[in-house]
Amino acid sequence: MVTISSERVRLSVAQPAARRADNGPLLRLLIMLGVLGPLAAVVVAIIQLWQRSIAGVDLVLLVGMYAVVALGVTIGYHRYLTHRGFKAPGWLKFLLLVLGSMSLEGPALTWASTHLEHHARADRPGDPHSPLEGFFHAHVGWIIDGFAANPTKYGAWLLDDPIVRFVSKTFWLWVLLSLAIPFAVDGWRGLLWGGLVRIVLVHHVTWSVNSVCHVFGRRPFKTGDSSTNHWLVGLLAGGEGWHNNHHAFQRSAFHGLFWWQFDLSGLLIRGLELTRVISDVQRIDPALVRRRLQESARTVAASPASVSTATG
Ligand SMILES: [Zn+2]
Ligand SMILES: [Zn+2]
Repeated sequence: MVTISSERVRLSVAQPAARRADNGPLLRLLIMLGVLGPLAAVVVAIIQLWQRSIAGVDLVLLVGMYAVVALGVTIGYHRYLTHRGFKAPGWLKFLLLVLGSMSLEGPALTWASTHLEHHARADRPGDPHSPLEGFFHAHVGWIIDGFAANPTKYGAWLLDDPIVRFVSKTFWLWVLLSLAIPFAVDGWRGLLWGGLVRIVLVHHVTWSVNSVCHVFGRRPFKTGDSSTNHWLVGLLAGGEGWHNNHHAFQRSAFHGLFWWQFDLSGLLIRGLELTRVISDVQRIDPALVRRRLQESARTVAASPASVSTATG
């Protein structure tokens, strides 16, 4: 359960609206095209190259490995490891962290520590990837700039975890395995689609949570940052696009809080809970969700200047 200090609520009133003022509708549209354009191009490339440079088996490799690896990030790295949204047996923990590693988004320890720092300083100085420093910076620029995670300050408990330490130390082994599997199935063509194209798609979709979901979309909860809910990222990133919900209730294993907010990761977590594979699944009391929504609406009504324009 997450509580928000009065300081953070005050910040939510003062900061996000000012940050958004620089981006006009045309610029926002161009940025959106820049993010989604390459994804659309991949689909077009698949159609164009059908039967020449791609076959059915490659499409199965692409979709299958995309789904499994992306869920390794959303369920394994994010909801389980970083936010402790549920308890898992050792074998499942190992498997989830290996799948997350296959995304080539850094070792589990680094990923979780960076993300904890993001939540601790969301859209304030020190946030590793706030769009305050530019949309490109939030999307991928912060990685190019060489952000250094600080696990001793953010996520120190992870340093004592032998499974986290082992999977993090052997990170490149799992990356190579994620390339070797599609190569073994369909040679260089399998490596291209199940390996490289899959990495590009997982990268951009999960990075969009940091960029798109702090700029575009709706903010039903006042959270002291500029996090938003965006349905398309929610759809592509296994439910992670309900990012304003997540900033409001960080430990919740479910990011979709209403039936219309499709949350594939949440559905799989529910399935694992029903089959008793995992336990202590963190969920939010619906009464608290309603109360927070009402409080947020009252805050907006009281200070119209703080209302963000919803574009998603
Ligand atoms: Zn965020
Ligand atoms: Zn998070």
